[in-house]
Amino acid sequence: MSNPLTIAVSKGRVLQDTLPLLKAAGIEPAEDPGRSRRLILPVIGDHARILQVRTSDVPTYVEHGAAHLGIVGKDVLLEHEGSGLYEPLDLDLAHCRLMVARPRDYQPPRRRLRVATKFMASARRHYARKGQQVELIKLYGSVELAPLVGLADEIVDLVDTGNTLRANGLEPVETVADISARLVVNKAAMKTRHSEIRAVVDRIAEAVRGRQAAAGEGA
Ligand code: AMP
Repeated sequence: MSNPLTIAVSKGRVLQDTLPLLKAAGIEPAEDPGRSRRLILPVIGDHARILQVRTSDVPTYVEHGAAHLGIVGKDVLLEHEGSGLYEPLDLDLAHCRLMVARPRDYQPPRRRLRVATKFMASARRHYARKGQQVELIKLYGSVELAPLVGLADEIVDLVDTGNTLRANGLEPVETVADISARLVVNKAAMKTRHSEIRAVVDRIAEAVRGRQAAAGEGA
């Protein structure tokens, strides 16, 4: 038998939200990922395995073929430069928006606008589309802090409820991209293990539709 189908999933919330979808595709961890410290999780039946990786590393594992499939937020894919991935499915999970936000008392500066963000590629494309020249400042966390202490005039960051912005005197002004979790597939594996991967993609798609239908009925 060939090596088990390998799926890279970002640790934490996305993995927890994704487990029912993987289960529907016959991929069920043999131990609780919330408790296990193992980075390679075996699944019941041993026909597949789940790699627990850092969110921003998921596309790298899949692109290099260390994983055949991956589950990751669109925000991460928008930052990823490679071209070795297919993105066949929106999992309709972990929704949020990548947004421009600024202080409620914002005054446009006379110099070039400074923008702090973790999402350099998305921010660069956004301001280029608008024809606006900006200075991008790369940060790795707590981006909302930057305008409060004069490091930046505005930010590009993920917004879910908007509570973090509000708590820091910021307001959203523009949507850069709608974000949700996506299934990605290594392009070469899609050819060499086509029927196996197609079956997994189809079963996950069916589970997503089932969940959407149930949510529609409950609404
Ligand atoms: P909120 O206060 O609910 O708007 O959440 C904003 C904070 O949560 C920001 O620091 C975001 O970076 C983070 N966040 C929100 N949604 C997501 C998501 N789907 N994936 C990763 N981080 C998120």
